[in-house]
This record gives sequence, C-alpha cells and structure tokens, in this order.
Amino acid sequence: MNDFVDEARSRVAHLLRMANTTDDRVRAQIIEYADTTPEPPVISPRMGIVTTGCSRCLRTAWQQYDSEGPLWVCGTCGHVEPVP
Ligand SMILES: [Zn+2]
Repeated sequence: MNDFVDEARSRVAHLLRMANTTDDRVRAQIIEYADTTPEPPVISPRMGIVTTGCSRCLRTAWQQYDSEGPLWVCGTCGHVEPVP
C-alpha cells in the first residue's frame, strides 16, 4: 500500500485537501473535527438522514435499516437499538 492509497481513504486528508490551507491552526481544527465527529451515515432511500440522541451516551445516533427494519445506530459508542 502506498501513500496515495492511504490518503484516498482518509476522511481527514480529504477535508484538508478541500480546505486547501497551510494555516496550522485551521488544519488542527479540521483534524479535530474529523476525529470528534462520526463518519457520514448511509443515507436512507426512504427518508434521508434521520438522527436522535443516543440513549446510552447522549451523542448522535443515525437511523439505519437492516433486514428487520429501522434501527438507531450511535456514531460515537456504537449502541444499537430498534426504532419503536
Ligand atoms: Zn452512544
């Protein structure tokens, strides 16, 4: 694996490239943002992005679907819970 492959797969590298800045403070903010926010969720074909508060850690849980129906999946702690 070479550097290019690593970079192509890295969300923070993508954000830094979009920001196109050499300002270390801005770059540090972007890295912190990428480290502290969940990966973008898969967008549901039915209703777009739907979120709620995680019942365990109170961060953002994203609505996803599996074969049994809708689920809340927390982007921070990974808690999974059926949508009532
Ligand atoms: Zn959680």
